[in-house]
Amino acid sequence: MEKSVVKINRRIKEVLGSTTLAITARAKELQSKGIDVVNFGAGEPDFDTPDTIKQAAIKAIEGGFTKYTPSTGTIDLRKAIAAKFKKDNNLEYTPNQIAVSCGAKHSIFNLIQVLIDEGDEVLIPTPYWVSYPEMVKIAGGTNVFIQTGWDTGFKLTPAILEKHITSKSKILFINSPSNPTGVVYSKDELQDIVRICVKHQIYMISDEIYEKLIYDTDQYTSVAALGKDAYDLTITVNGVSKAFSMTGWRIGYAAGPQEIMDYVKNFQDHSTSNPTSISQAAALAALQLPDDDIIVMRDEFKKRRELMMALVEDLPEIRYIRPDGAFYLFCDVSKIGDSDVIAKKILDEVNVAVIPGSGFGAPNFIRFSFATSEERIKEGIKRIGQWIKSQSGS
Ligand code: PMP
Ligand code: GLU
Repeated sequence: MEKSVVKINRRIKEVLGSTTLAITARAKELQSKGIDVVNFGAGEPDFDTPDTIKQAAIKAIEGGFTKYTPSTGTIDLRKAIAAKFKKDNNLEYTPNQIAVSCGAKHSIFNLIQVLIDEGDEVLIPTPYWVSYPEMVKIAGGTNVFIQTGWDTGFKLTPAILEKHITSKSKILFINSPSNPTGVVYSKDELQDIVRICVKHQIYMISDEIYEKLIYDTDQYTSVAALGKDAYDLTITVNGVSKAFSMTGWRIGYAAGPQEIMDYVKNFQDHSTSNPTSISQAAALAALQLPDDDIIVMRDEFKKRRELMMALVEDLPEIRYIRPDGAFYLFCDVSKIGDSDVIAKKILDEVNVAVIPGSGFGAPNFIRFSFATSEERIKEGIKRIGQWIKSQSGS
């Protein structure tokens, strides 16, 4: 390869592209060529955005709501988010403590930019969502991965956390339900983790984007709701992508201590400015909907989870982590081989898209998304089963 003359920023050079986005794009490309791909790659609900939400956006366009808004969102939307936090999470945030951004991904990106100095350490329980470490690299921070495994149910424990803390530890990521494992922390487990963070004065970014998709309990615990100490150190991130099937609309939000959120506002003032006015109108309508649509979607995901677990159970070479939430089945495939190779072969040879675990810091694993119909789940697992059999014969 010819040596490049382009002088790229040294931090950006280290940043990897997103595996989740790459495979989802490749699956869609194959589909557009008429290939019958079963897509277990997608990290987005397959349901359509509810009609009431779409109508609110159409009304916004027709009514001329197409101009700049305040950088971190309209006051109406921030009030609705504050009301949501109060109702669902028992959290008191004023609209000024809330910043609306272009997706929860953007909210987290902003927070990392605002909080991280060169060399600060960010504690990331592993497996993790693909974008966390790359965002930290962009900001010049240092990733400290905390490996979790079968022994603790892929959950962080106070003892493991404590071992990784240094004088440079600045932020801990908490993601419950987790992408990619689906693991959900109980209130007691979160309380134990918060205690350690309070002791060492470490900020917590609580990524609650899958909050509405929990299957075995109705009790969701928000980290910031665990007392004043927790509240003062936590920035809560959420959005409308998963709960309302609005991934393409790009609306997420963060809420936290006033001083931090003031800097987030300043930062956003000079980067994206406001997220799209029309999407904000749609998100406002979404937050005003009764929970019925969400419950229908959640119940459907729950059925698919049961089906997916039952079918994978029949594949002795694969061991899965039971997902209490989100819509992913994270599977150990190390008995079959290298997960990057497996994911590539499954897509090329039997046209099933899955995400290899390497991007989540778990190279022995593969992520299956069950955000697809029961019929496609059956078809996809059947193909994978046949593919595994064909491998043992070769
Ligand atoms: N956090 C997690 C854990 C995710 O899986 C995602 C991906 N959808 C996001 C944040 C970002 O979601 P969005 O930007 O669509 O709001
Ligand atoms: N978060 C989803 C996923 O993990 C969507 C893709 C992305 O933004 O990473 O698949």
